[in-house]
Amino acid sequence: MQDAADLADDPRWRRLWDKPWSCSVCGETHRGLIDLACGKPAQWPGAEDKAPNSALDLGGNFLSEDFCVLEGQHFFVRAVIELPILGGGNRQFGFGVWSTLSRENFLRYLAAFDSGEQDGLGPWFGWFSNRLEGYPDTLNLKCQVHPVSGRKRPRVVLEPTDHPLAVEQHHGISFDRLLEIHALNGHDIRISLSD
Ligand SMILES: [Zn+2]
Repeated sequence: MQDAADLADDPRWRRLWDKPWSCSVCGETHRGLIDLACGKPAQWPGAEDKAPNSALDLGGNFLSEDFCVLEGQHFFVRAVIELPILGGGNRQFGFGVWSTLSRENFLRYLAAFDSGEQDGLGPWFGWFSNRLEGYPDTLNLKCQVHPVSGRKRPRVVLEPTDHPLAVEQHHGISFDRLLEIHALNGHDIRISLSD
């Protein structure tokens, strides 16, 4: 982790956490960071109409909050990529994303899903399955999928390359860059944090 000024000295950072603020674009009120998430893998061709997890169909096309299957051949799980925030203590920024799994590992994940006990599983190889705004193409970056117990989304860890998203995951993301990423995703909160 590179050196970074302590964000406790940044009035915008303090404003973010001190009291609720409103996003100037969508008007939503938040306290702290907004979670960003992709509702489906980039490869999913249709709308984000989600079926319940219990309706999972391994043989065709399927999308729910946690699982996706394409043509009975490509298997995806909803995960989260965490980026440590430079100067933010232990705060991490989490972006909801999708990764592929092999059919075998997808079935292992499914078998343990309802029990919520998944610490003994993985990590498994996957291909990162979203294009994130503000980065050179992120689709199909190599990653490891780490299942997490307690009904939490698995964590995606990118192969440590010089891709900017991998660099930010392994070395941290600056607060300014984080605000830029939020703006690119429809939540420009920079004005709101200076009120
Ligand atoms: Zn917003």
